[in-house]
Amino acid sequence: MKVPYLDLPAQIRALRPELDAAIARTLDQCSFCLGPDVAAFERDFAQFCGTAHAVGFNSGTSALHVALLLLDLKPGDEVITTPFTFVATSWAISYVGAKPVYVDIDDATCNLDPAQVERAITPRTKVIMPVHLYGQSCDLAPLAALAQKHGLHLVEDAAQAHGATYRGKPVGTFGVTAGFSFYPGKNLGACGEAGALIMADATLAERARSLREHGSRVRYHHDEVGYNYRMEGMQGAVLGVKLRHLAAWTAARRRIARRYTELLRGTPLKLQAELPGSEGAWHLYVVRHPRRDELRSHLEKQGIGTGLHYPVPLHLQKCYAGLGHKAGDFPVAEAAARDCLSLPIYPELADAQVEQVARQIRDFFKL
Ligand SMILES: *Cc1c(COP(=O)(O)O)cnc(C)c1O
Repeated sequence: MKVPYLDLPAQIRALRPELDAAIARTLDQCSFCLGPDVAAFERDFAQFCGTAHAVGFNSGTSALHVALLLLDLKPGDEVITTPFTFVATSWAISYVGAKPVYVDIDDATCNLDPAQVERAITPRTKVIMPVHLYGQSCDLAPLAALAQKHGLHLVEDAAQAHGATYRGKPVGTFGVTAGFSFYPGKNLGACGEAGALIMADATLAERARSLREHGSRVRYHHDEVGYNYRMEGMQGAVLGVKLRHLAAWTAARRRIARRYTELLRGTPLKLQAELPGSEGAWHLYVVRHPRRDELRSHLEKQGIGTGLHYPVPLHLQKCYAGLGHKAGDFPVAEAAARDCLSLPIYPELADAQVEQVARQIRDFFKL
């Protein structure tokens, strides 16, 4: 039995009639850039997140860029963030001319360690930018308290965490704004590229709408240098359809995660920890072991796909050589990069497939 790492065709097949109707409507309306389906999706997504406003973008990366533009950072300003994430978290910081200041992660959660964040604060620090990696909430209370105490902004990268909660509240609602990605493989994926910001503040939402559309509120009147970061009408239509399934999909991911955890307990693998008081969105199910590469090829041979998230921490990427970091600067992130392995997890994954993955892992360890 093959177990693909991701099975987008299965999801698209199941939704095909709904998607066809939504896309046909876009074609009929010729509402290709923003338009009524994007506006409707923005309303629904804000409601899903339990906040007042959502602003649609053409990617998660551009949404995060605008999140930092909204805070008027100046060159030399510092943003404290994690080195163990997809690179786009740091792009937003670099795009506004600020400096990413990395802080090591917590070994159990692979998320920013609040105790280390405080030590990295300097007079130039303006923002703390945590990532809810793998769909697991960061420890937001101490991060929000630090932001408050030092007069900093909290901006959440929730690109992997649609529907995750912290102390009963959806992630993304703890800071001034939060970015989401709707890249096709994310928990809520477009049929193409898309992203969003959410926020409670109406003035901020209005400026985000302006920045994504050439810095204009009134056509051909440009208040500030803006961008063409509009969400496509077709993606708004697709996301509107898929959002209706997101709660059920998240429940399925949680069920699969629990099953993996049951089946893999007692193996030498280090399993992913959910922060007490939080409920993960389980974008990924990541296990850790020093023999990661051997395990990966064993599973590959059995027709089981896996992923690496992420093999090179950002402080060791060539593009950030200018920051002057070296191996050993963030040992916990570096160890995670060496031993992390992402197992297949998606709502369409069958119980028998989960069991097959666990059986092959036990086989590898001769259990
Ligand atoms: C996917 C992702 C992004 C970027 O989103 P895109 O829609 O691909 O531009 C940013 N941060 C994290 C943590 C991500 O996983």
